[in-house]
Amino acid sequence: MDREDLRLAVYRMFAATGRAPDAGTLARQLGAGPVMVARELEELAAAHHLVLDGQGRIVMAHPFSAVPLGFSAMGARVLWWGGCAWDSFALPHLLPDEGEILVATRCPACGRAHAWNVGTVRPPEGGQVAHFLVPAARMWDDVVYTCGNQRLFCSEDCVGSWLEATGQERGYVMDLATLWRLAAHWYDGRLEPGYNRRDPAQAAGYLRSVGLSGPFWGL
Ligand SMILES: [Zn+2]
Ligand SMILES: [Zn+2]
Repeated sequence: MDREDLRLAVYRMFAATGRAPDAGTLARQLGAGPVMVARELEELAAAHHLVLDGQGRIVMAHPFSAVPLGFSAMGARVLWWGGCAWDSFALPHLLPDEGEILVATRCPACGRAHAWNVGTVRPPEGGQVAHFLVPAARMWDDVVYTCGNQRLFCSEDCVGSWLEATGQERGYVMDLATLWRLAAHWYDGRLEPGYNRRDPAQAAGYLRSVGLSGPFWGL
């Protein structure tokens, strides 16, 4: 079984259905044994192409998530868990056939509901801000926790009160337009065969090009 075929099968199932395939479904689809599939999924997880739970089930294949992390994302035909703020805003760019995607969440500080029609042409309007808690160098230490703490808030004030209430250090705050630019091309190519993750220099160049800077991003 080709590992890239397995990666693509996972990504395409997530894209088409909003759900992660289980190992049995992947084994049947690829004509491979379940032990082989489980081993190859571990390899893909080690290379950060996807995230497994303790039982080897697929939890995330960025920007797709099988678990709720504070966001929903509704396309023309499919409803996804949105992953984090970054992942939710990435979905319309990765899935242009879905049109604008309705991204919805609650402010973690005050519980106010927020929703945006997110498309590929321009950033959605709104004065809300994204707060990312975990610095880039540590994002993969526990990536589910990291994504669970990349959230959208009403305002800087709500970020401040959430940090105070939870006893956390401030991470990085950006406006909607910066979040949208960050999300726009970060995941390019993940639904295509032969995808390669950016190397650190390419990643740094991308982050700079969307207007990010400072030690939080390792820049
Ligand atoms: Zn709020
Ligand atoms: Zn995320």
